[in-house]
Amino acid sequence: MGNKEKQQSQAKEKAKKNVIRIIDVTNRDGVQTSRICLSKLQKTMINLYLDEMGIWQSEFGFPFTHHERNYLNANLKLAKMGVISDMRLSGWIRAIRKDVEVAKRYVPDLEYVNLSISTSDQMIVYKFQGKLDRDKVIKTMVDAVKAAKEMGIKALGVNAEDASRTDLNYLIEFAMAAKEAGADRIRYCDTLGYDSPFSIYERVYELAKKVKLPVEIHCHNDLGMVVANTVSGAKAAIDAGVDAYVNTTVNGIGERAGNADLVSTILALKYSSQIGGKYPLDENINLSMAWRICKYASYAFGIPIPINQPGVGENAFAHESGIHADGALKDRRNYELYDYEELGRGTPEIIETGRQITVGEYSGIKGFRNVYERLEIKFKDEKQAQEILELVRYANVHNQKPLTEDELRFIARYPKIAREIFTMVPPEITVDGVELYHH
Ligand SMILES: [Zn+2]
Repeated sequence: MGNKEKQQSQAKEKAKKNVIRIIDVTNRDGVQTSRICLSKLQKTMINLYLDEMGIWQSEFGFPFTHHERNYLNANLKLAKMGVISDMRLSGWIRAIRKDVEVAKRYVPDLEYVNLSISTSDQMIVYKFQGKLDRDKVIKTMVDAVKAAKEMGIKALGVNAEDASRTDLNYLIEFAMAAKEAGADRIRYCDTLGYDSPFSIYERVYELAKKVKLPVEIHCHNDLGMVVANTVSGAKAAIDAGVDAYVNTTVNGIGERAGNADLVSTILALKYSSQIGGKYPLDENINLSMAWRICKYASYAFGIPIPINQPGVGENAFAHESGIHADGALKDRRNYELYDYEELGRGTPEIIETGRQITVGEYSGIKGFRNVYERLEIKFKDEKQAQEILELVRYANVHNQKPLTEDELRFIARYPKIAREIFTMVPPEITVDGVELYHH
């Protein structure tokens, strides 16, 4: 073989290699969780951080839902402007033609979606309660996929909700129909966290082998196995010869016991025995953002990071016992699998212990200018400063806590987008309120 041919065949070989990519669902599964909320600005910041981290796709919200629309449209503008540079923004929609139509009408620039419908008999019988049976589930999904394609959606995944409790032959039939209708991926949802690393491997392998469609792995932590199941599912997809897409959330926040934690999953894929280095992880992923995004999400959610959290917990690189401390000091590999520097840790953080001026919903121009001067941001004139101040007040109404420096920078830099994000107008009320009877 000549040199050029050799190079070509090597390039071909590389192009053929299946890859594990990440679709983060913090802004969908994370925020739909009981007692957990993010403002539209906080969701935007999560998208910006995920993009900086080289994440392949962010499931950024619900295009069908009225109050999401301005946020979604504004974030699609950020993508168009190149502020969100590489990451795809995808919407979550029920796999129903009408929902797809409504979503596309209100978020016209939407290019990526996941369409979701339940596939287990448990949910078909006890959730749809006779409205749909197995055949109708497939028909409804196929119709929704076709609608999405007709309306110019570039790439879409079809979600089999409760896939782990779905009859495998039916799941294969469902995925085959999705593929024929034009779906680009099938999302295997372990909605209840029922799978084990062994069962998910077998089922995803069989599914991928038969259908030959890239598989998304979506796991929950009800039995405490979420990251192991995610890694095992991804391994199965790659072993079966298709690309794997794993769903994660920042700090593992998600329905009930949560989803696969973003950082833990990346660490497991990079460093665990028989996986790390063997199963190709998306090369764009940059863990140095880990510390920043986890800290931000913790602040935004108002939920502390557990002390023993992999990678970003207070104790992830702390050693105290004699033997461990001595060993770690002699050679970090004695007691550390990976370096804290890789996760963006190691730089001391400065905490102001004296006077602090914060900006809030009732701030005035003097304090506001002081805060921005500290960030070395200068305004063109008084009018500009007043306009940004007004936006910052609105941001505080939404966040209900002091804004972070990155949030303040974002508002000053993209005021028009920020304004769109803060704007929410509920639909008209056509019927008057109910009368209350007191007994
Ligand atoms: Zn979920």
